[in-house]
Amino acid sequence: MNIANNTFKTLKDLDKAHYLHPFTDLQEHKQKGGDIFSRAEHIYIYNSEGKQLLDGMSGLWCSNLGYSQPTINKAITQQLEVLPYYNSFFQCTHQLAVDMAKSLVEVTPPQFNKVFFTNSGSEANDTNIRLVHRYYNLLEKPNKKQIISRKNAYHGSTVAAGSLGGFNGMHEQYTGVNYVHHIAEPNWFGYDGELDRDAFGKHVAQELAAKIDELGEENVAAFIAEPIQGAAGVIVPPETYWPEISKICKERDILLILDEVICGFGRTGNWFAAETYNIEPDLLTFAKGVTNGYQPLGGVMVSDKVADVITCNEGEFTHGFTYSGHPLACAAGIATLDILKNEQVIEKGAADIMPYFQARLRSLEDHPIVGEVRGVGMLAALELVKNKSSKERLAPDCEGGAICKMHAIEHGLMVRSVGDAIVTAPPLICSREEIDLLITRLTIALDYTAKHYGIKS
Ligand SMILES: *Cc1c(COP(=O)(O)O)cnc(C)c1O
Repeated sequence: MNIANNTFKTLKDLDKAHYLHPFTDLQEHKQKGGDIFSRAEHIYIYNSEGKQLLDGMSGLWCSNLGYSQPTINKAITQQLEVLPYYNSFFQCTHQLAVDMAKSLVEVTPPQFNKVFFTNSGSEANDTNIRLVHRYYNLLEKPNKKQIISRKNAYHGSTVAAGSLGGFNGMHEQYTGVNYVHHIAEPNWFGYDGELDRDAFGKHVAQELAAKIDELGEENVAAFIAEPIQGAAGVIVPPETYWPEISKICKERDILLILDEVICGFGRTGNWFAAETYNIEPDLLTFAKGVTNGYQPLGGVMVSDKVADVITCNEGEFTHGFTYSGHPLACAAGIATLDILKNEQVIEKGAADIMPYFQARLRSLEDHPIVGEVRGVGMLAALELVKNKSSKERLAPDCEGGAICKMHAIEHGLMVRSVGDAIVTAPPLICSREEIDLLITRLTIALDYTAKHYGIKS
């Protein structure tokens, strides 16, 4: 259904007039207005002119089952009739929060038997800080407050979660908390030293040990990291990286927080990337895919090690949100996990569509402006270059990525550009034909981008 032209103008004007968009150039938006999306079906999104786009980003890495899941709709509307809201403060509880907690315990690694609910990934990472500080206070190690994170990490956008994150563009706009320290990320494409990939992975992991030594182990509470850095441009670590990080964390008295907000719920071919990389986190952040994006829900899985301390000391844990364990969000979450389990979406995906997707993308390595294809499961990035061997970029200021994204949208494919990389994370339920369509549209975008810069393809 096309929205009539006059409605469109009004909506666009109202959007420009009243709506401050997140992560948006507000001056540009004030002038040009936003792109209006009107509806979605299966893996496709439709703009206000009725143009269809294959959603190569699953929304914002969250609608992993696409947009047509009637059992999730039904779960939400049924719950609306029974108990639309109640809270979990001061010992209160309700069926849906309990069922959701149980469902999460069943699918997460065995050390996790407890969950703290939030409404977002950002709030979940704030919760992590509250948990690790409380944990070490209760253990009478009150100096252990420092947290180590990585450059170009994304952990959300509240003041504390933004501080954990490592984006200069965010730090420049406000003053964050003063107990977070950033080490280098395992960015192999961006590295031009002498080491091979495996040696580089170990080398960059050693920065964690060096930083702990510098700050003093007695002052460090935790290390937080995404298994694969999403917003940074799908930074896939060398195979040697996580074993080395795990070893460093085990040898020292610090907690490991794994931010699985993007990687969780099947994105890397296992329920959690903790399994993909054999990582044993003490705390695990989830959000996004947990409700298929249908409702805001996030949280922290708390391991027995941490739970045993925070539940065996008297005194209130003075933290929580009005909507922690919201019944409608939990209804959406339970239904989402049920689909993943009952339809074996992850197991089937890992056996077929994920390797197919990765293989088809790898075939684009021959394209004259593709410098690297990297990815795991249903998560990938293409690094755009002018010159494959020198890795010279297409244009200054990462304009090449933006140009390619524009051509992709023009030709019916939603992707994201991060610097000079094009990122794609399509729904896990794509068929082979749909992946073929994604590749066809992406190839057209690459050809136009090459042409834009006068490179033959
Ligand atoms: C999106 C994201 C967050 C923040 O989640 P919100 O729900 O937007 O607050 C945290 N960590 C990672 C890895 C993310 O990708």
